[in-house]
Amino acid sequence: NPVQRRKPEWLRVKAPTSRTYHETRQIVRDHNLSTVCEEAACPNIGECWAKKHATMMIMGDICTRACSFCNIATGKPGNLNPFEPTNVAAAVKKLGLEHVVITSVDRDDLEDGGAQHFAETIQAIREASPGTTIEILTPDFRRKDDALEVVVAAKPDVFNHNLETVPRLYTEVRPGARYFHSIRLLDKVKQIDPTIFTKSGIMVGLGEGREEVFQVMDDLRSADVDFLTIGQYLQPTAKHHPIDRFVTPDEFSEYERRAYNKDFLVVSASPLTRSSYHADEDFQRLRKA
Ligand code: SF4
Ligand code: SF4
Repeated sequence: NPVQRRKPEWLRVKAPTSRTYHETRQIVRDHNLSTVCEEAACPNIGECWAKKHATMMIMGDICTRACSFCNIATGKPGNLNPFEPTNVAAAVKKLGLEHVVITSVDRDDLEDGGAQHFAETIQAIREASPGTTIEILTPDFRRKDDALEVVVAAKPDVFNHNLETVPRLYTEVRPGARYFHSIRLLDKVKQIDPTIFTKSGIMVGLGEGREEVFQVMDDLRSADVDFLTIGQYLQPTAKHHPIDRFVTPDEFSEYERRAYNKDFLVVSASPLTRSSYHADEDFQRLRKA
């Protein structure tokens, strides 16, 4: 498919060169951390790391799930590193972040899905950098009783859990997950602690229809979700889910308009949007509004 071979010009990005990009890279290395920016080969790394905006990935770089869009390795993960929460906190402090995004692989192998480790990471960042706002992007904690409560009790400022795609495509894109479980999870976060902002996102260009995207927006709003991200899916390698098409910038603008009409507080819909793209600026803007 020639469409897949050649990216449209709106998806082309410059190679990272800035001094702060290299500083960020060094801090990540020095603290022995994984980032989703690198693991997922995110196209925004030059721009984000130039602003020291790196999204840390905790609990290892091997995932127990195998989503067909995702570049993270699948397999049997190793033991949790008990020093990771303090390592992450030290890196956040060194980077001097006002807002940090922490994500993880899915750990179906752990009894609590890694909930306690998430909570400890939040606490360690709070202690080291009390002024930093914390956004977490979590797995679905499916079949892990009480795991969600543990994470919510640690009081992240933003709780993000991605739907990734429309429900019809779940079996091929996100096997192992259930659409309505994810909606219920977001709903539950709001019910337990309404002061936490909730956030979710999808990728487009996987074969979804416009009406299906609007339905996802309605489902998220019915769970009181505050923020929404929509970005273009890019196929990491030939083995991953094929790209159905490149959604045009105008179509993204239309999604953004529609989402604001449905009363989301913050919406980012653009070809290069990722869940953590501009998350710092968006959140600071909201706080100042
Ligand atoms: Fe990292 Fe997110 Fe920026 Fe991509 S968009 S480089 S994952 S912070
Ligand atoms: Fe990738 Fe997350 Fe799916 Fe694991 S659960 S394969 S990290 S998208």
